[in-house]
Order: sequence, then C-alpha cells, then structure tokens
Amino acid sequence: MAETLKSKESENKYPVMSRCAACKKIMGIAFMGPNEGEFSDGFCPECFEKEAEKIREFKEKRKEKK
Ligand SMILES: [Zn+2]
Repeated sequence: MAETLKSKESENKYPVMSRCAACKKIMGIAFMGPNEGEFSDGFCPECFEKEAEKIREFKEKRKEKK
C-alpha cells in the first residue's frame, strides 16, 4: 500500500530549474510537485557563504552598538 502511494506521488512531480536566489546561477534540476511552485530557489554554496558572512557581520554590529 505505502509503495503504491509513493510511486503515485513521484509521477506527479516534474523537473524544474533549481536556481540560486542571489546570483541566479542554475544549480541543477529539482523535482517539484504541482503545488510547490515553478522554481526551487536556494543559495549556491558560494552565495550561502556570503549570506552567512553578512548575517555574522550584522550580528556583530548589533553587539557593538549595545
Ligand atoms: Zn549564488
């Protein structure tokens, strides 16, 4: 029973472009369901590092003000 449900679910999935939300670099193909949207946006490893750095800086600045 569970296996039948699983294969039905993957039939409904379709391939979409997975892009980096920051630099729009195509990261690959992701499989999405009909209600999950057209793009699977995230950060590529490079931008993820940059964003993490920004957050660290922001937190440190807030600390300095106090
Ligand atoms: Zn990126």
